[in-house]
Amino acid sequence: MIRHHPSEPTLMAQAAGSLLALHARVLAVHLAACPRCRDELRDLEEVGGALLAMPPPAAMRPDALAHTLARLDDAVRSAPSHAPVITLQALAIGRWWWLGRGIRLMPLARRDASGTRLDLLRVTPGIALPAHGHSGPEMACILQGGYTDATGDYAAGDIAEGDSALDHTPVASPGPDCICLIATTGRVRAHTWLARLVQPLIGV
Ligand SMILES: [Zn+2]
Repeated sequence: MIRHHPSEPTLMAQAAGSLLALHARVLAVHLAACPRCRDELRDLEEVGGALLAMPPPAAMRPDALAHTLARLDDAVRSAPSHAPVITLQALAIGRWWWLGRGIRLMPLARRDASGTRLDLLRVTPGIALPAHGHSGPEMACILQGGYTDATGDYAAGDIAEGDSALDHTPVASPGPDCICLIATTGRVRAHTWLARLVQPLIGV
């Protein structure tokens, strides 16, 4: 069962078309599994569309409200009832790089103009990622297995969002390997000698 959903600002950014492209790809995986967030996103898109469709107040026609409501009905009727399913098999098209004991990384997209990269991270159960922080926003969706950090327990389908205030040491949960799709903007700030050693090699 999904317990961790994207934040309201993230859904609003997606509705407005301003969410960073690689973060949007991570969000899409969650949306494929979460009817609740699909509904919320559709509502936000309708509100945004209705606001854009409204003429300026000074020029408002007497039937503007009825016109806008009619457009909302159209939007509801034309909204897709389901999102495409995105599978791990479809995503995992590169090779795994060992970063350390029980930790592998598959780069999917190089750092783009916004300074964001996209990776799959695979961690063996019981293994902890080296403590680290972030210089920018990070969004992860768990595809398989799960992990625990100070902010809670995360399982398949859950979204984890972090920013520069987040400093954490995730530990992979018992069961299958924990595999996450992660969009990272800015740099990961590593706190251990191992992570600092590995960082320049893989460019995280
Ligand atoms: Zn959700």
